[in-house]
Amino acid sequence: MTRGADVVVDGLDVSVYTIPTDQPEADGTMQWSDTTMVTVQARAGGCTGFGWTYAAAAAADVVRDVLADVVRGRDALDVPAAWAAMQKQVRNIGRPGIASCAISAVDVALWDLAARLLDVPLVRLLGRVRDEVPVYGSGGFTSYDDETLRRQLRGWVEDDGIPRVKIKVGESWGTAEDRDLARAQIARCTIGESAQLFVDANGGYTVGQAVRMGRCYDDLGVTWFEEPVSSDDLAGLRAVRRQVTCDVAAGEYAWSLVEAQRLVAAQAVDCLQADATRCGGYTEWLRIAAVAAAHNLQISAHCAPALHAPVAAAVTNLRHVEWFHDHVRIEHLLLDGAPDAEGGVMVPELGIPGHGITLAAGADEYRVG
Ligand SMILES: [Mg+2]
Repeated sequence: MTRGADVVVDGLDVSVYTIPTDQPEADGTMQWSDTTMVTVQARAGGCTGFGWTYAAAAAADVVRDVLADVVRGRDALDVPAAWAAMQKQVRNIGRPGIASCAISAVDVALWDLAARLLDVPLVRLLGRVRDEVPVYGSGGFTSYDDETLRRQLRGWVEDDGIPRVKIKVGESWGTAEDRDLARAQIARCTIGESAQLFVDANGGYTVGQAVRMGRCYDDLGVTWFEEPVSSDDLAGLRAVRRQVTCDVAAGEYAWSLVEAQRLVAAQAVDCLQADATRCGGYTEWLRIAAVAAAHNLQISAHCAPALHAPVAAAVTNLRHVEWFHDHVRIEHLLLDGAPDAEGGVMVPELGIPGHGITLAAGADEYRVG
């Protein structure tokens, strides 16, 4: 008998943590001073799988009140079956947003659990395409002063050896164009000509403005222009894409395979992004990566780098994983086993069953639910 066979999921435990940022943070269209993490522990056969999402605490209620009953008692190795049951169960509360984040955390916990039950590293269960996963440094918040920006960028490029970085632009809904360009110039001067420079407007520009600004970013050698306009504006993304040289990217708000497919079908992106903590976990992230591959597009994992390391190693068309300042900090504060990005790559865990990540003893300090 295969190890782990005929073991059913005993139950899910849910917790909520709120972690203050190390300083005030803002992008083009939002500002924040803390981040909430909702964690799920799935129990079966004496093993525990661990998953998480970055979402409002309400996602924990969805796990407890809507999802737990349809997962409990299922074969712990049949993760896609549990995923399908969860997807059906949220019909009347709506899949996008909170529910999708809740499904994501449970799905990740179940994949980790399945690998632990089989006593294999998760990346071996998924099957590797690559040994190392490239990352790009991501932060460069509009709330930073120039010296803070320089220090963060130097840290990634010079100290960590990460040859690609991203800063936020589109400050105050696109009303600070001069400062956007000045910060992009500071970034280019700081990282030199050999490192790649990315910008992310978080939907802060209008279409015509994004084209004008995009051409200025082109002149600075920017190669990645993320959400130049709202991700809801598929025609606008396509229009920007056709008039700038840098790659247009979007997908962090694709809550499902269908929404990711809409971005691809509209020819709105040069590289598709997807977030396994939002789109429906590893199960849906892999399907989205396949849709991208079918359209000759690469996929980039949005945020939560520790969570994405194993699944990113398992797809042929990966471009990179976002080494997002907030989440890197949180994943090293609250979790044991989060990878580093030495030399610009993460190396998925091969020595421990599952994804190799557990809650650290110190996490309780940040627990709020
Ligand atoms: Mg973004």
